[in-house]
Amino acid sequence: DQVANQIAAGEVVERPASVVKELLENSIDAGATRIRVEVEGGGRKLIRIVDNGHGMVKDDALLAFERHATSKLRTSDDLLSIATLGFRGEALPSIASVARVHLQTRAIEDEAGTEIEIAGGNILRVEDAGMPTGTTIAIRDLFFNTPARRKFLKTEQTELAHIAALVTHYALAHPSKHFELHSATQALLIAPAVANAGERLFQIFGKDTAMYMLPTTAEMDFARAGLPEPPPWKREADYEAPDPGYIRITGFVSKPELQKLNRNSIYVFVNHRLIRDRLVTHALIEAYRNIIPPTSFPVVLLFLEMPPQEVDVNVHPAKTEVRFRQPSFVHDFIRDTVRTTLMNARP
Ligand code: ADP
Ligand code: MG
Repeated sequence: DQVANQIAAGEVVERPASVVKELLENSIDAGATRIRVEVEGGGRKLIRIVDNGHGMVKDDALLAFERHATSKLRTSDDLLSIATLGFRGEALPSIASVARVHLQTRAIEDEAGTEIEIAGGNILRVEDAGMPTGTTIAIRDLFFNTPARRKFLKTEQTELAHIAALVTHYALAHPSKHFELHSATQALLIAPAVANAGERLFQIFGKDTAMYMLPTTAEMDFARAGLPEPPPWKREADYEAPDPGYIRITGFVSKPELQKLNRNSIYVFVNHRLIRDRLVTHALIEAYRNIIPPTSFPVVLLFLEMPPQEVDVNVHPAKTEVRFRQPSFVHDFIRDTVRTTLMNARP
């Protein structure tokens, strides 16, 4: 139902960058190793994502625009152990209800691909298409049928900056994948696959920033910390997780010399999902207490990995908020790990 889809769109699709986030996560979920993003007009005119993931067969491609038709939840138990990034089956129908969508996709097992055109939620065209395995999805004229929403969009430069920051974050979180971001006039990011997060940091931020970053890493066992043992959990294909029951921190934190004036330099990923969380930010600021001035923020690239049952990513549809099952434990573990790294690096 289009009304329900447009209401969901109000939650999921705040701005062009939210569309890019949903599409990127779908490409990553599909196992893509090359992801190319093209935008025009700050994403209002066009957002196109080309991936080399496993694609969809025709029936699945049509189903993808039905509400809650996710291929990623098989039982309701899965809701508790979501290791893939997307999980609600709302993104594509929501986006399709407020934009013009052109999808081209081909699954490995299919001889021909499928091409689907949708505008404002109505399917206009379905055809076979010759193409390599993977998915290309183009979103045009975002909010063309919801003028009130369109008014809230900021300038082209602002929307493009949000998209560029987002693609950069995902590129940082997935160093083994090739990422590109292009606007109509320039290549904003070209990041070929590299071996690890350190190399990606260097590749994206350059050596001036990279030389001020300290690698940090720690692992802790929930049981040994005197906490209730988490329930058993599944290891998903393609998901590099710590051993069951462990929480792991890896990443890079800035030396005290490198500071920023706002928290936009703090990038945190939980199980490869970009999050923005007050508890985590607070833990990081605590770690730098009396090391950098209280008016500035560190530069941080942090990856938390933990059993999916330990973290609820289902708090808000925009999916950047999370709820930890054991918040104070996670908070203190982050604070102490980062603090130790900083202290050990002191001359
Ligand atoms: P969700 O990701 O929560 O399952 P979406 O609305 O984002 O819901 O996508 C619906 C479904 O469409 C997905 O479950 C997946 O099966 C399929 N899909 C979407 N994008 C891609 C893609 N790039 N490659 C392969 N399959 C995709
Ligand atoms: Mg999705």
